[in-house]
Amino acid sequence: METVYTPAHALHAPAREFLDGQLIPYFESPSRAEIIRAAVEAAGLGAIVPPHDFGLDPILAVHDAGYIDYLQTVYAAWLADGRDPGGVYPDTFLTRHFARRARPPAKPGARAGYYNFDLSAVVVEGTWAAAYASAQVGLTAAAKVAAGARSAFGLCRPPGHHAHADMSGGYCFLNNVAIAAEWLRRKGGAGRVAILDIDFHHGNGTQHLFYAREDVLFVSLHADPDRQYPYFMGYVDETGAGGGLGFTRNYPLPLGCDEAQYLAALDAACVTIGAYRPEALLVSLGVDTFAGDPLGDFALPSQAYGRIGARLAELGAPTVFIMEGGYAIRELGENVTSLLRGFEMPA
Ligand SMILES: [Zn+2]
Repeated sequence: METVYTPAHALHAPAREFLDGQLIPYFESPSRAEIIRAAVEAAGLGAIVPPHDFGLDPILAVHDAGYIDYLQTVYAAWLADGRDPGGVYPDTFLTRHFARRARPPAKPGARAGYYNFDLSAVVVEGTWAAAYASAQVGLTAAAKVAAGARSAFGLCRPPGHHAHADMSGGYCFLNNVAIAAEWLRRKGGAGRVAILDIDFHHGNGTQHLFYAREDVLFVSLHADPDRQYPYFMGYVDETGAGGGLGFTRNYPLPLGCDEAQYLAALDAACVTIGAYRPEALLVSLGVDTFAGDPLGDFALPSQAYGRIGARLAELGAPTVFIMEGGYAIRELGENVTSLLRGFEMPA
């Protein structure tokens, strides 16, 4: 399996985030991607290759043009406004009673409130370049599969599955898996695409983008939104809308979810995906389901990841892995490569 990687991810490195009422070091750090790259190399998984540049068009096929302009320009505007160079944080949020037809204000801190749903997607000088490169990494991995590869790994950073068409959040700016899925539909010759999100957190952005679509199945295993981020989406009764009714499936899981519980839910998810007969499968790959993850509350041991990969391989679909979360730095590389090796060489 080839891995697509670029060092451009490191251009996005906010120093801190606001969590639990405190300013703390930014969890979604450049070291994450470097650790995974080194583990892929050490595991001998396959070649590590740079992304191609597919341009802005595949990004604008998913994201709002005003939002893209925000990502490109807000940091300079923020500095010109005399604000802290450590990064752009929203001054306020557009919440449900503010305005029926709100528009993005000119002031950069307020514009950030229009285009964010939390405080974690901090924009610094290199954020746009890194997010753009991350989307190209995902597109390149998808193109490899469209060209006949059995699988490819897009080592995307920053991650993407929390990003909506016009909103950042959860460390995500551009929805890499959605951009790759849309490209596979429009340019990659895939009639039906399935997205399986196995990050600990619900892929709210991805679900929202494809909620009314029947050509992109979205299936997610995640912590119950009643107790875990992103809280407002990921319930079992969210199953799609209009023509997309039945093409969204959520599997919220309990506190302390262990390997047996997880593999049972994964099996149910895979049965749903298998029945859909996707021409391409995209996996939003997060390993914050690991027992030791500082942002998770599941109890998966490292050995579970090989079994997860092997179960995905049974689907027999051309598969694109897109990196999302995972914050247990010491085990991050092992958990990701175990899953990919489990897919490549089921035990
Ligand atoms: Zn996550």
